Amino acid sequence: MKTEIHRIPLGLSNCYLIREEGVILVDAGFPGKGEHLQKRLQELSIAPRDVGLLLATHGHWDHVGSAGEIKELTECEVAINRREKDWVEHGLKPMPPGITPWGKIFGALLKMYVPFVNFSPASVDVVLEDRDYSLESYGIQGRVVHTPGHSSGSMSLLLESGHAFVGCVAMNGLPFRIGPGMPCFGDDISDLRESWRLIVESGAKWIYPAHGKPFEAEVLAELLRAA
Ligand SMILES: [Zn+2]
Ligand SMILES: [Zn+2]
Repeated sequence: MKTEIHRIPLGLSNCYLIREEGVILVDAGFPGKGEHLQKRLQELSIAPRDVGLLLATHGHWDHVGSAGEIKELTECEVAINRREKDWVEHGLKPMPPGITPWGKIFGALLKMYVPFVNFSPASVDVVLEDRDYSLESYGIQGRVVHTPGHSSGSMSLLLESGHAFVGCVAMNGLPFRIGPGMPCFGDDISDLRESWRLIVESGAKWIYPAHGKPFEAEVLAELLRAA
C-alpha cells in the first residue's frame, strides 16, 4: 500500500493530506484557509468529495480554525477527542500554559492577539475516546491513539507505514522553538514524555508535527534517553 503525504501549511499550522486507498486530512490550520486548501486539492487533482475525514489532533483554534470551511467544502466527517469537542463546535479558544521559558513569553504575547481571532465552528461526527480508533473504514491503514500532555484530549495518528502525525505533542522550529522537541505550550510535561514513549515504541519512523517540518522519530527517542 502506497502512502502519499502532503504538508499543506494553513497559517502557522500544518494540515496534512494523506492518501492511501482513501483520502483524509489531519488538522485544519488557522481560520480563513478553506480557499487555500481548495486550491491545493485542485493542484493535486483530488476532488473535495474524496476527502472522507478531517481528523483534529486537538481542539486549539490554530488547528481547527478552518474546520467549518473545510467541512463545507468537502462534506467530510470531523473527528476529535470528546474532551475538546465543544471547542470546535462552539469556537472556544482555551490556551495551554507555556512550559518553556520562551513559551511563557510567547504565550503572554499571544494572549493579546487571541481575543481578535474568530473561527466558524464545525459539527463533530466522530467523538474519539481515550483509546485506539482504527481508520480502516476511511481507507487508511492506521489508528488514532490518545497522546495527552499538550492538551488532555490530544490524539495522534499512527500509520502502519511508520508515519506518525502527532499534532502538538512535539513541535519543530520557529516561532515556537528551535529545532524539534517539546512543545512550548502544554498541560503536563510528564504526560508529554509518556506520549512520546508510546509513539516511539509503536515503531514510528517519521514524526509529522502540526508546527514545523517532519523529522525522524529517533530524535524523540534520543531526547527520552537523555531525560
Ligand atoms: Zn495546541
Ligand atoms: Zn498550535
